[in-house]
Amino acid sequence: MKKNYDIKKFEPMDKENETKIAKKFQKKLFFSKFFYYYIAIIGVIFFLEKNNFIFDSVLGDQVFILIMVLFWILGLYSIISTLIFGICPYCQRFQKLNGKAVGVDSSSISYTRGVSPFIKYCTRCGAPLSEKAVKEVYEKLEKGNASTPID
Ligand SMILES: [Zn+2]
Repeated sequence: MKKNYDIKKFEPMDKENETKIAKKFQKKLFFSKFFYYYIAIIGVIFFLEKNNFIFDSVLGDQVFILIMVLFWILGLYSIISTLIFGICPYCQRFQKLNGKAVGVDSSSISYTRGVSPFIKYCTRCGAPLSEKAVKEVYEKLEKGNASTPID
């Protein structure tokens, strides 16, 4: 069995193919990211409610429960799907805890470390997992080649 330190670092080979892989990877994570937009929306609603822009009668207990149920469903989906879809297509490993997990109670939103679906590079082998990251890798490569002195 392979050990941790045996992981081969990613090496760029075929930009077109790597872009394709990155696109596919990000597509799978689209709905995992949705949770974070939802939190932003909840944040705005709570803010408005606290500052009396929304009357308590609008944000009643039932609406609040609905918001929380949706929060847990989306949150659980986001965590599980990020773990599964976050597996690197190059080294086939789970991502390390790379981001922030969010918790909400009736009056505050808190952040702790957790998994984030906003993945740019593999935390294990360094492979670029977004289109932007692939571009960056090749830009760096071209710069590196250009500045290499010729013997
Ligand atoms: Zn990897």
